Amino acid sequence: MNRMKKVIWAHFIILIILLSFSMLAFAGQAKNVILMIGDGMGPAHLHITWLYATRHLGKNLVMTEIMDKGQTAYMINDTADSTVTESAAAAVQMATGVKVLAKSIGIGPDGRVLKTILEMAKEKGKATGLITTSGITDATPAGFVAHVAHRSEEERIAEQLVRSDVNVLFRGRKAFFIPESEKGKRKDGRNLLNEARKNGYEVVETGEEMKRARGEKILGLFNMGNMLFEIDRKGSKEPSLAEMTAKALEVLGRKEQGFFMMVEGGRIDHAAHYYDIGAVISDVLAFDEAVRVAYDFQKANPDTLLIITADHETGGLVVLPYTPTSKEYEGINLEAISKIKGSYLGRDKELGGDPSSERIKEVMKKYYDIDLTEEQVRVIRENPLRQLDPRHFSKYGNAAIASVLRLHHRVGWATDSHTGSPLFLWGIGPGAEKIKGWRHNTELFRIMKEAYGF
Ligand SMILES: [Zn+2]
Repeated sequence: MNRMKKVIWAHFIILIILLSFSMLAFAGQAKNVILMIGDGMGPAHLHITWLYATRHLGKNLVMTEIMDKGQTAYMINDTADSTVTESAAAAVQMATGVKVLAKSIGIGPDGRVLKTILEMAKEKGKATGLITTSGITDATPAGFVAHVAHRSEEERIAEQLVRSDVNVLFRGRKAFFIPESEKGKRKDGRNLLNEARKNGYEVVETGEEMKRARGEKILGLFNMGNMLFEIDRKGSKEPSLAEMTAKALEVLGRKEQGFFMMVEGGRIDHAAHYYDIGAVISDVLAFDEAVRVAYDFQKANPDTLLIITADHETGGLVVLPYTPTSKEYEGINLEAISKIKGSYLGRDKELGGDPSSERIKEVMKKYYDIDLTEEQVRVIRENPLRQLDPRHFSKYGNAAIASVLRLHHRVGWATDSHTGSPLFLWGIGPGAEKIKGWRHNTELFRIMKEAYGF
């Protein structure tokens, strides 16, 4: 071998060694973690939306595409005191790896303050972001950064958020940031928007303002209450979950040390509490669009661990087999579901407190394109399910409407609350190889921590 060849070979071998090292580093460590939580999104919510997307809209879900390419597990979520959880305990268990009491935020069952994965990431100099379609003071985002004994302490959660230095905070429930004198809900007279500005936050209140924001720290509060259901959002000034996710990645992605971001589809749960299949599907689709944005980022930045899961199942949702007239095993009626005009919120507002039979017929025709029989109108007026099981069918009118719609849409609901159904947990990127089998939601903390190399 002549000298020239030797030099070329030596360079080639060094290159191979360097490449192997960098690939090993990629395989082992995540610079960024994006955790996406569909609140209340049980396997049936995902499955029904997938049916709707593939068979009615003619497109696949990005979420199931990631399942195919990445790793998938079943995840259970029992707490220190219950086999069925709510969002606060579920978020804290994912964020800290400790089983906690229902409705507590960032506090262990022994009263100890728990450190979250977001706080650990921040200590290591990483940027952080919390995004949701419900309220930023709501249980899931709060579980990553706040420490209060009960999730209902939203005024205190808002204070802790403003002091938290989380770079990107996007969502609703502005009311907990402003005093009662300015139509907010704060009894202490404080205006936390002004305090946030003093702490270096750029405060934005519409999708357009959000897109124009240039700050390193942005607080976006887009509604006094929860943000709108996706099915009702058209024509409003609110950004979509995908737009918020894109903006957050633009801000956080600039950070040399990487970031931690939690994105929640927060209203899937609310829709399911009210047996609203139209709002469930459109909010899961909106969540899927946000997953697309995150997945595109992950593909361009492979040192990112992208995890998708849910905190709990809501509603005991199932696909039913039959109709009174069609063949026995026909399944969900996607065509009828595609005709739903808006969420239960608009429908219930139009129905009012004690609607007449005529009004019930009109409103049900408008929202679901169905002509009710006299018997169905009577069921809605009398609401017998609520009398039989007030704990599980307490939402006024909705249980009766759902029992009328179940033959039409062929979906059923077991409860207006949460269930203990196992969930899907899936992801892609460094550390995702540990996502397999039968996992508890506390293990998600360890998976994220080890992916970072903390
Ligand atoms: Zn809920």
